[in-house]
Amino acid sequence: MKITSCVLLACFCFGACAYAADKLIVLKAARMFDGKSNSLVQNGVVVVKDDKIVEAGSNVQIPDGARVVDLGDATLCPGFMDAHTHLTADFSGNYNERRLQELDLNVSEQAIRATEFARVTIEAGFTTVRDLGSHFVASREFVDVALRNSINKRVIVGPRMLVATRGIGATGGHFDPTNGFRDFLFGREPDYTDGIANGPDEIRKAVRFEVKNGADVIKAAVSGGVLSLTDEVDTPQLTPAEMAALVDESHRLRKKVAVHCHGDQVAREAIDAGVDSIEHGSFMRPDTLTMMRKKGTFLTPTLMATEWIMGKIDNYPSALQAKAKAAAAARSDMFRNAVKMGVRISFGTDAAVFPHGQNAKEFKLMVDLGMSPIEALKSATGNDAELLGIAQKVGTLEKGKLADVIAVPGDPTADITATERVSFVMKEGRIIRQGPSAAEKAEKTAFPDVSAMAD
Ligand SMILES: [Zn+2]
Repeated sequence: MKITSCVLLACFCFGACAYAADKLIVLKAARMFDGKSNSLVQNGVVVVKDDKIVEAGSNVQIPDGARVVDLGDATLCPGFMDAHTHLTADFSGNYNERRLQELDLNVSEQAIRATEFARVTIEAGFTTVRDLGSHFVASREFVDVALRNSINKRVIVGPRMLVATRGIGATGGHFDPTNGFRDFLFGREPDYTDGIANGPDEIRKAVRFEVKNGADVIKAAVSGGVLSLTDEVDTPQLTPAEMAALVDESHRLRKKVAVHCHGDQVAREAIDAGVDSIEHGSFMRPDTLTMMRKKGTFLTPTLMATEWIMGKIDNYPSALQAKAKAAAAARSDMFRNAVKMGVRISFGTDAAVFPHGQNAKEFKLMVDLGMSPIEALKSATGNDAELLGIAQKVGTLEKGKLADVIAVPGDPTADITATERVSFVMKEGRIIRQGPSAAEKAEKTAFPDVSAMAD
């Protein structure tokens, strides 16, 4: 008996393993965008084996025995990327209410909520995100690292994450978590373990502390910001010497540097210091954009963030309203100039400022401000992969790349809002979504038919 069951088990296992090795999935659609070309191709086909693309192109021959997923009048694209998210947070509601809630927030509960933010993000077609800052006042937790690791271990479903842990910034600056509260309310002044550092040596210490705790990328606030209470939006907050130390230490540890920066003067200093991307960049002038183009610095415009805040301006205290209006008034011209001048543009939204899962609305904002639809699509695929330093693995539909493939209905170059209606998502060869999202399915089954349940 024992021998029989062992033999049976061995046969079953052998069969299953042989099947996995031979498993081919073919994705077919009316069109395909490969993440780098200047036009779509007709009759797109992507052949996937295990977690990789083995063939991609127009009218590629379909291997015998493959499982074919025909997505019809749709466009296959590389999984979208968002270079600026905060998956562990939600800043989209009333500002003062949220600030109060943060004071009695159970960080574990917030981590559980973040698993839902991760799910809606990947279901919206974003298979990779950069997470640029996760910190809860007076907490030692690294929720972004935990979220990334849980996704990598397939404990939960979500996008591939490159995380920044705490944002690095100056005392009293945009990232100081005690900004706007009474002195010593939280028992001590924040230090490098909270990302708050002053002087080149402390900046290096903060970078090392973050990398030690799991950071994939380093984020710093070099200028003031919109959603912080006690600074001006465009003032410089790190010195050129601090930025030089920031970039040097991060690059020595092979990490990219993304800087939150609205002001023009400090943007020039940051570009000169060698940062990899300027996030927001609202007040950058044409000669600063010229510097960026020459140096190859990426601009991550986060148009959605300003758009959301301006649409709900009454949700914010008056001091913040004034800062948001000034940034919004400047950023459209800045973005138009950046497009015209050929600055490298990475796709990034600041998701968390608006509800997670709406990331793709950024595409239309980019196109409305003068970017061609195909360039907007490239920003969220090939360009972002390059900025994130993962272009060897993802970002394009090419032989040998990981099979991160999505489908949008119709032709996104004719109607860019098609990107907001993703219908199919595959990450590393696994189908995450085909048809309705988990939330849409849950809505349908919220009031189940009782008679059917009697069975
Ligand atoms: Zn942000």
